Formats: sequence, structure tokens, C-alpha cells
Amino acid sequence: MDPKKGDKEYVGFAALPNQLHRKSVKKGFDFTLMVAGESGLGKSTLINSLFLTNLYEDRQLPEASARLTQTLTIERRGVEIEEGGIKVKLTLVDTPGFGDSLDCSDCWLPVVHFIEEQFEQYLRDESGLNRKNIQDSRVHCCLYFISPFGRGLRPLDVAFLRAVHQKVNIIPVIGKADALMPNETQALKQKIRDQLKEEEINIYQFPDCDSDEDEDFKRQDAEMKESIPFAVVGSCEVVRAGGIRPVRGRRYSWGTVEVENPHHCDFLNLRRMLVQTHLQDLKEVTHDLLYEGYRARCLQSLARPGARDRASRSKLSRQSATEIPLPMLPLAETEKLIREKDEELRRMQEMLEKMQAQMQQSQAQGEQSDAL
Ligand code: GDP
Repeated sequence: MDPKKGDKEYVGFAALPNQLHRKSVKKGFDFTLMVAGESGLGKSTLINSLFLTNLYEDRQLPEASARLTQTLTIERRGVEIEEGGIKVKLTLVDTPGFGDSLDCSDCWLPVVHFIEEQFEQYLRDESGLNRKNIQDSRVHCCLYFISPFGRGLRPLDVAFLRAVHQKVNIIPVIGKADALMPNETQALKQKIRDQLKEEEINIYQFPDCDSDEDEDFKRQDAEMKESIPFAVVGSCEVVRAGGIRPVRGRRYSWGTVEVENPHHCDFLNLRRMLVQTHLQDLKEVTHDLLYEGYRARCLQSLARPGARDRASRSKLSRQSATEIPLPMLPLAETEKLIREKDEELRRMQEMLEKMQAQMQQSQAQGEQSDAL
């Protein structure tokens, strides 16, 4: 597929070399996208529209009565997308059953556990022997679907977003935005932005645009930032708008809503940021900020008095290096592993102290410059 030909089915990964190091381009790279939010808000349709695939062919929808008692499950689907020699191993994490049950209290806990498990796995791999070939399964982005029919975020939305905002890049989207008129869309967006601020929920912060970028890029970037939460429409059908052009859209008796028409919805902005301009930044924020935060919390808990007690060792140190439980190993082997783990803990402790010293130093520098 040649992006320059303006092919309608062009996804946009060919723009990635600009964002990436050559080596990772050659190796291909992993990206994990989670979709969460109430059932029926158009999550699967949007994913299929975004990546021009049919990932949910085999999906079986439970009956309404079954959904009332259904618990949340986590489903992972992988798809490899290659374009212009760039391989992206995309993993989609879906959360069917979210908010379906009559009792939704804590229904989001499995999602939080899932995100943390991926961090834990990465930490284990990083401190293991094969650290050069780590498979990154951390969740790099969560598209959170908000209903167009409500008056903003519901208590369940707030509870979920609060539980995950320190662990994953959240991009809020209003699903099925064709249910709203333009002024209603703007009002709902403003309401959601206000609620996020009031509830102190951190969503993904778009980086500032470089000053040497061209004016067109700067304008697009500003537009994209202003359109959050993205109001999106999805469709797997190709229709003929005005009877001429074949486009992805939803046909109604009064006309057609075109998925890729920026006057109809923010689909293009969302796709552009996800696959062209911000994919690498989402990965970097996940690694540098969210994962580092998780790692610092782990190190702190290890550094607390008593944490080094063998009996109370964390799951992390027990499972790293090998998945065989310690009691099943011969004594000498167990001792060796424990020595290795002690060494690993010592290194982590040193790292923690270094990080704390750096933080104190930069704090002191900040205070000094404030005083000046
Ligand atoms: P999910 O449960 O959140 O994955 O929702 P689905 O993608 O399965 O969509 C549920 C229903 O909504 C299907 O009948 C879709 O055709 C329809 N749908 C999906 N996206 C949109 C949209 O943007 N607008 C409208 N009006 N309907 C949509």
C-alpha cells in the first residue's frame, strides 16, 4: 500500500520511521491498546474501523439476562500490521462485561490487576537473564468510552478512571457521537473536561509541539488537543456518500454520517494521533512515567523495614529468574537463588537511594532558583 497514493484503506504506520529509532523499525514493535467502557458504545466497531480489520468476527454477545450477572473478563487479541516495511505488533485488550452487571461496584478491579500484572511481568523480565529480548506487554494506552446519552461522566466512569489514571495513558472518547448535534457534542465535551479536572483525573497529556514544526502541523496539533475527549463514530460498512464516493459511514434516512469526515466526528484526529503522531510518545510515557512510578513503589515497599524478611518476600522476587516455586528446588539451588535475589534487592536498593538523592538535588536546585 502506498500512502502517497491517498489510498482510502491507508492506515498510516508508514509515518512511523519519523518517530522511531531504526532498530526498532527493523525489529517491529509492540503496542498494546486497551478499550474499556460500557458494552454497546461501539468499541469493537471503532477498533475495526481504526485498523481496517475484523477482529471481532468470532465474538458472541451474551443475552441481556446473562449480562446482568456477567462479570468482567479481559480478552487479548493480536494483530500484526505491516506497512511500508514497518511492523507493528498490535495487541488489543478488550474488557467485555464492563458495567453490565446489576452490581458494578469494583467491577473494574480485574482491569487494574491486569495492567499491574503487565508491569510486574516487565519488572521480572528486566531483572532476569534475558533482558535484551523482553516482550513488552504493558498497556500503552486505554481508550475509555463515554456514553453520548448521559450528562457527562457517571460514577462508574469516575471510579474506573480514578483507579487507573496513574497506571495507564487514558484517552477519553465519546462513543456513537452521531447521536449528538454539534452543540450538544461541545457541551458534553466541556462537561467531561470539567469533571476530569474536578475529580483530579489525569488523562494523557499531549506533549507541546516543537517550535520548529511547520504551521500546518502546529494547527493540526492544536485542533487535536482541543477536540479531547474525541467524539467518534465507527462503522464497518462502506457506503456511497452523495451516491458518488465510497466511504466508511452510517446511512440514515436523512443522510450519511461519514466516519472520516472531520465535520462529522473526530475519528481522523484520533487515528492520526494513535498511529501517526503520538504512538511513540504513548510508549515513552508508559515506560518513563507510569512504569517508573510502579517500579519506584515496588522498590519503596521492598526497602521498608521487614520487607527483606525472607518469609515476607514479594511475589516479584519469588518468581523472578525462574517460575519454579522455591520449596520444590534442591536446598543448594534454593540458597543460590536466594543469594542472587539478595544481590538483586541490594542493587534495587542502591538504585532507589540514587533516585532519592537525585530528587533531593533537583528539589534543592528548584528552591535555589526560586530564591533568586
Ligand atoms: P461494543 O459492545 O462497545 O463493542 O459495541 P459494538 O461495536 O459491538 O456496537 C454495538 C452496536 O452499536 C452495533 O449494532 C453497532 O453497529 C452500533 N454502533 C457501533 N458504532 C456506532 C456509532 O458510532 N454510531 C451508532 N449510531 N451506532 C454504532
